[in-house]
Amino acid sequence: FTEADLARIRADFPILSVEGRNGQPIAYLDSAATSQKPQVVLDTLDEFYRFHNGAVHRGTHQLGDEATSLFEDARGVVADFLGVKDEEEIVWTQGATAALNMVAYGFFAGSWEHTGGPFDLKSGDEIVFTRAEHHANLVPWQLVARRTGAVTKVIDLLPDGRLDLSHLEEVITERTRVVAFTHLSNVTGAITDIEPIIEAARAVGAVVVLDTCQSGAHLPLDLDSLGVDFACFSGHKMLGPTGVGALWGRRELLEQLPIIQSGGSMIEDVSVESSTFLPVPYRFEAGTQPVAQIVGWAAALRYLQGLGMDRIAVHERALTAYALPRLLEISGVKLLGPTDLENRAGVLSFEMKGIHPHDLGQFLDSLGVAVRVGHHCAIPLHKFFGVTASTRATFSPTTTFAEIDRWLEGLPRAADFFGTQN
Ligand code: PMP
Repeated sequence: FTEADLARIRADFPILSVEGRNGQPIAYLDSAATSQKPQVVLDTLDEFYRFHNGAVHRGTHQLGDEATSLFEDARGVVADFLGVKDEEEIVWTQGATAALNMVAYGFFAGSWEHTGGPFDLKSGDEIVFTRAEHHANLVPWQLVARRTGAVTKVIDLLPDGRLDLSHLEEVITERTRVVAFTHLSNVTGAITDIEPIIEAARAVGAVVVLDTCQSGAHLPLDLDSLGVDFACFSGHKMLGPTGVGALWGRRELLEQLPIIQSGGSMIEDVSVESSTFLPVPYRFEAGTQPVAQIVGWAAALRYLQGLGMDRIAVHERALTAYALPRLLEISGVKLLGPTDLENRAGVLSFEMKGIHPHDLGQFLDSLGVAVRVGHHCAIPLHKFFGVTASTRATFSPTTTFAEIDRWLEGLPRAADFFGTQN
């Protein structure tokens, strides 16, 4: 983006003028945790509740009809944004965590019901994930393994936290039924080279689940051609509201995926003895959906499309190219992630010798700089790096070079403040 573009984009985000603790606008470098929202999303939520709120797919009144149209149009917007031709492959969820649980517990239900299809896990079958996963793509698989007698195996890491793909044939075997891995690490910023993993998974007929929670807002995606079977999204990381997300799955697999939630809105017919269910995707959407959030998320995705995902990726790459060498030059900094700019995104986690990340985070907050501190829901990955926590700065379409300067200038000041000899 040019400076003028960036100023225009930033003007769309009211929260960016909120003052930080030092009296300057907050430098928000925590989009990987949750993104800020442009005015159009706030307006859409407001307008929905003011003028169109009604229950969807029920009854015949005007407001219900309008809400239903907006709700179903949003499905088309999400599909279009993600490069999905068949919009019925988009299932509304509460977020990426709910989407990943929907697939993982589909395997649990499949095993319980002996469905005989791809989701019928048997004792001794193998579930593969990686040591770099967010807990949302790790803990559900552990629980499903424990409850089905399946075995978990991990794809391990290179010293810089990228996946080590040199031993894939040992990890992915004839017994592997599912391979789940992240597209873009929320800690290291590494973008996964997904082709070799897909190839290995395909060779043994395993289902491929890609955690696209972080890539969704930062890389142009074309799910139809990516070669994976399932992907998951959180609206709140993509400039949309909280409480909404999606599971995308190939239709032939969604049609076989056992449901784990049931109730209203997902049935075709019910008797006291048994029930039949609606087709995909409605069979997965039990209960009242977060309609306003869904409509707000669609507005966010239209906004992102207006900016252009290609241009966003270029902007964030330029920010990363600027920040990374400067960060590495700072005495006492150790990066948790790859240094080469080719296959990484604007997610920079690091430790600073002698300063606990929580202290560093608080110090930066006093300068009006918002970063994330902690384990970022990836404890195994932090253990791999030999630390319990780190500090993370992440970039977004609104991030400026000046904000990066404010963050980086804070680091030596923190070392002075805490009296560390870096
Ligand atoms: N996967 C990754 C890689 C993430 O970064 C996150 C959110 N930090 C999730 C899954 C879970 O997303 P949510 O908490 O929005 O459900």
